[in-house]
Amino acid sequence: MVPLPFVGVDLTAGVRPVDVAALDPSGRSVAFRQVRSDDELCGVLQELGAEVVAVDSPMDLPSGLCCLEEDCSCVPSGPGTGRSAERALAALGIPCFWTTKRTIIKKMVYRAIALKERLEASGYTVLEVYPYAVKRILFGRHLPRKSRPEGIAFLIDGAKSELPSCAWPALWAPSHD
Ligand SMILES: [Zn+2]
Repeated sequence: MVPLPFVGVDLTAGVRPVDVAALDPSGRSVAFRQVRSDDELCGVLQELGAEVVAVDSPMDLPSGLCCLEEDCSCVPSGPGTGRSAERALAALGIPCFWTTKRTIIKKMVYRAIALKERLEASGYTVLEVYPYAVKRILFGRHLPRKSRPEGIAFLIDGAKSELPSCAWPALWAPSHD
């Protein structure tokens, strides 16, 4: 199999499976996988020939925090809510889940932090990514809901027109993941 060094991971808190998409540098070869555990993910990354792993989840805590536990005395040292990158997004008018002790995605954040450490120790370049912000910047403010067929169609059209040099399949029926 041709190595697919660029891999995107749609992380979950652990109940739902994790979607994995991989791409070669030319954009001509793609592969999709679903995994349940981090062990399984590590096996798939090796199988795909991954080098850069982009994960859709916060992968760090705000500076000053050692955890996201309400009963711990750690407090953020930054000038506002969440992380500096989240504040920069908010300033652009792009909403996200603030990483605070009241986050509703705490389990996923903990999973992502451990995963980042593990993947970096294995030699991968790990990037935190936020697809919603990318879509907002590429396609503008009015995105049809991604859970509906017209939302998916919008994303397919947008991908084809904004990124024409990618070898998008002629028959293509992806989920929003
Ligand atoms: Zn703490």
